[in-house]
Amino acid sequence: MKNKLKMTAVIAMVALIIAACKKNPETTTAPQETVKNSDRVLQYIKNLGFPETSIIDKGSFYLVEEDISFSKDMKVPSNAGVGTEQYYSGSIVNSTNKLNIRVFVDPSMTSMLSEINNALAQWNAVPNSTLRLNVVTTAPYDILIKNEVLESTPGSVVCGMGELPVDGKAGPLIRINKNAIASNSFAQRARTICHEFGHNISLRHTNWSSRGENPAGVPVPGVSGTDASSLMNGGQCGSGASVLSTKDKNAIAALY
Ligand SMILES: [Zn+2]
Repeated sequence: MKNKLKMTAVIAMVALIIAACKKNPETTTAPQETVKNSDRVLQYIKNLGFPETSIIDKGSFYLVEEDISFSKDMKVPSNAGVGTEQYYSGSIVNSTNKLNIRVFVDPSMTSMLSEINNALAQWNAVPNSTLRLNVVTTAPYDILIKNEVLESTPGSVVCGMGELPVDGKAGPLIRINKNAIASNSFAQRARTICHEFGHNISLRHTNWSSRGENPAGVPVPGVSGTDASSLMNGGQCGSGASVLSTKDKNAIAALY
């Protein structure tokens, strides 16, 4: 009887161990990894100082301040959480990649190629900067710019969305809401495009303070304070500055 009980106990223990072993692989399957990455992305956004209330879950990506998007499967920078380069940005394009950032214009955006070229020319003309954005017509490329109907929340139209750089590469995607900017002047259409490119090469909103951000980094060297004429002021589609301000140029010169 005693032996039988012992045997039962041993069998029960072995069964428990097998069950425990079986559980492990199940908890590390792919879907959970994906969930984990989106959580990392969310934490990264918070670490950048964006107010939690401004973060909108758009399904495949998070949207912040209406026009900065973070793909849920993006690679989160390894230095995330540390106050990085400056509060203009999360991270910058590295010294090799900045020399030739290849821009592919999706067929849905070719009707605004002139505006795109105007925008790129502005960034390329910044004195004391070696950053260059060039349109390419075939892969490989670094930034895809495409047309998309955009809303932050239902009914709230957004003109464009950019992405910050990751791991030394420019933000890979720019979405432009062509319908939303079609009736704007040429200069304002180019402004929206120029503004989004600013995000993809690391700039954040110059008017971050009035938008409720809590800066997580340090300012671009020599470029601090507010700047009413900055093209990188957010929330000014159709009405904001259409040429880079002196401070915008100083920021790019300092970074690149
Ligand atoms: Zn913006």
